Amino acid sequence: MKQGSLTRRNFVTAAALGAVAMGAAAATGCSAPAAKDEAATDAAAAEGESMAAADYQNIYADGANLMPARKAKCPGPRGPVAFEAELQGSVDREEDFDVVVVGAGIGGLMAALKAADMGAKVLVLEKMTRGRGCFECFGAVDAKIQKEAGLEIDRAVLLDEIYRSAYYRIRPEAPRTYVERSGEATDFWQAMLDKGANGFIITPVAEAPATNGMPAMTQFIPSELGFYDSPCLPESAGVRSGLSGIYVCLEMQDIAKSAYPENIDMRFSTPAVQLERGEDGRVTGVVARDADGYFRANAAQGVILATGGYDANPEMMEAWTRPEDYAYSSWWNPGWGTTGDGHMMGLAVGAQMDPIPHPVMNFRWGTPTSFADFRTWNAVYFGILVNGRGQRFVREDGPFQVVSNAQNAQPAFGKNCWYIFDEAMSEGLEDGGFEEFKSKGWLYEGNTAAELAEACGIDAEGLQATLDRYAGFFKNMRDEDFDRDLNITMPFTGGKLYAFTSNSNVLATVGGLCIDANCSVIDMDDEPIPGLFACGNVSGSFFAGNYPRHIPGTSIGRAITFGYVAAESAVNGTIGVGPKLDGNAPALFAYAEGGAVSDEALANSEDLGMWNPYAPIHGSSLDYTPEQLGGNAMACENCHEYRAGGETVADGMKWLAE
Ligand SMILES: Cc1cc2nc3c(=O)[nH]c(=O)nc-3n(C[C@H](O)[C@H](O)[C@H](O)COP(=O)(O)OP(=O)(O)OC[C@H]3O[C@@H](n4cnc5c(N)ncnc54)[C@H](O)[C@@H]3O)c2cc1C
Repeated sequence: MKQGSLTRRNFVTAAALGAVAMGAAAATGCSAPAAKDEAATDAAAAEGESMAAADYQNIYADGANLMPARKAKCPGPRGPVAFEAELQGSVDREEDFDVVVVGAGIGGLMAALKAADMGAKVLVLEKMTRGRGCFECFGAVDAKIQKEAGLEIDRAVLLDEIYRSAYYRIRPEAPRTYVERSGEATDFWQAMLDKGANGFIITPVAEAPATNGMPAMTQFIPSELGFYDSPCLPESAGVRSGLSGIYVCLEMQDIAKSAYPENIDMRFSTPAVQLERGEDGRVTGVVARDADGYFRANAAQGVILATGGYDANPEMMEAWTRPEDYAYSSWWNPGWGTTGDGHMMGLAVGAQMDPIPHPVMNFRWGTPTSFADFRTWNAVYFGILVNGRGQRFVREDGPFQVVSNAQNAQPAFGKNCWYIFDEAMSEGLEDGGFEEFKSKGWLYEGNTAAELAEACGIDAEGLQATLDRYAGFFKNMRDEDFDRDLNITMPFTGGKLYAFTSNSNVLATVGGLCIDANCSVIDMDDEPIPGLFACGNVSGSFFAGNYPRHIPGTSIGRAITFGYVAAESAVNGTIGVGPKLDGNAPALFAYAEGGAVSDEALANSEDLGMWNPYAPIHGSSLDYTPEQLGGNAMACENCHEYRAGGETVADGMKWLAE
């Protein structure tokens, strides 16, 4: 047995030492003679505890891993981190504002416009030369345009789907705010855009099928909104490029300056580096940095963090997200400014954050350098997706996130997965695609499955078996393995076979600082931190485990809604009341305070056979009702009679094992 590995004996010993130490400390108080003993016992306890912790960590062969989790280097972009735990110089200037918004992405711009529209004097700080903002479509509930189009959304069903998608690991407040206020926020957004020069209009996304061409398996998707009917959008923005959002955000930056020149002061290349807190705990402003050094920006009504996620901070990705969510991924249009500064600024003043690992918004159809090459559209749409064993692993028509997650769960974080398609499915690649992709090593071909498998380096027998089985599903039009809808795809019809590379694509991280219904950031005791608000991807309390792409654009939807609500809360001075933490809830039995089981007690109790008090069925049975004991109403009584030497039901029972 290697040193430090987990054995039952040293685990028990370590726990016992810890208990002895606690008991000793309580018994001796602070008396001087006892202090030496106490120190010795503490040291022994510390050693015992650290031994136990090491035991948990070193469960693999030496050197493989310290923690029982796979690790991976994050290959993603590295942007400029602005958060500073310690300032590198003095703060010599000071300016006063009502509201300071940190980040001029979509959430920050909404917050700034709303606060300004309510009459506040707003400073917007943006670290980069332009604010980010990248999207195609978004969700909302009961916006005017949705009502006019007859799009009805059942609020309770949508809320349930949001909670369900987080496996209920979130509190209800933030999603409820989204559902209740997103329509109003969308109407405000349109009203703001109407002040611009370019005629941006929000309209329903009328395309079918409506989620990036893949069925979304949800009734909500048809309610999605976008900007595709805006006359000003250049052709190249396309419907599905993610670029329409960039133009919308540029327009909003312009509107902020032109429509609210007295209220909004927008500064680029000027990062916030720290939050400032008064003695009463209220966040009073930020320290920011520009070409002349640090300056203090006071915020009488509040600071709104809108710094986005941390997809451009590889170390943070490694620390806070799952390795499979980035290890074999490329990035789609990275923002570079999203380095988690707001997360760190919040944590530094005691904010609570979503539990890790945080979800990553990722999409299928990545190429090694970026997102979808549209010449491969038919191939991806009609083909199948296989791993290195040549086996399918997901319904290929699932929402983007679903397919990504499934690929990332394959061996080596989804490396060596391929779209397999044939000549009939390859339309679109004629325009130079074949040659270009082959020369890059992204595309292989073969006249047979064996030839193709050999070319791209996957298992030939596996691929042949998969193709045969998949072909058989078309007889009854039923995919018996993954329930793909075969009516909207086509079978392989012979001819040449192709394999095109496949990897996931990182768009954003979506876990952040916990917020309440008013978008106040909450602290470790679940109390709102006065003067601190968050919106968009720096905020949390909305997703857990996964970004649910089958629900329309909740990422932009919550960014605009929470930007709007955060601004309103700051200007109105709304602050929620935290929960009563203790109330009359009974204290739980504190196992940790009980004595640890000694080796001697364990040895003695083993003689008791099935009535061993440490056996699972009996443990704590004094507090159980007989009904809880496996339906055997007599169990508890039997046990105690047995201890007294009496007959038990068990004595009369038959045991299959014997
Ligand atoms: C290609 C692509 C397509 C997408 N499509 C969609 C879509 O269709 N629908 C959807 O819902 N979502 C979509 N998303 C996700 C969406 O872009 C984000 O979730 C959204 O932009 C988050 O908004 P935000 O305001 O929180 O942050 P961001 O828009 O990321 O803005 C944060 C800003 O804060 C700035 N900043 C950071 N730190 C500091 C600091 N210390 N001081 C000052 N400024 C700072 C950053 O530079 C940045 O400008 C897409 C993402 C990508 C990459």
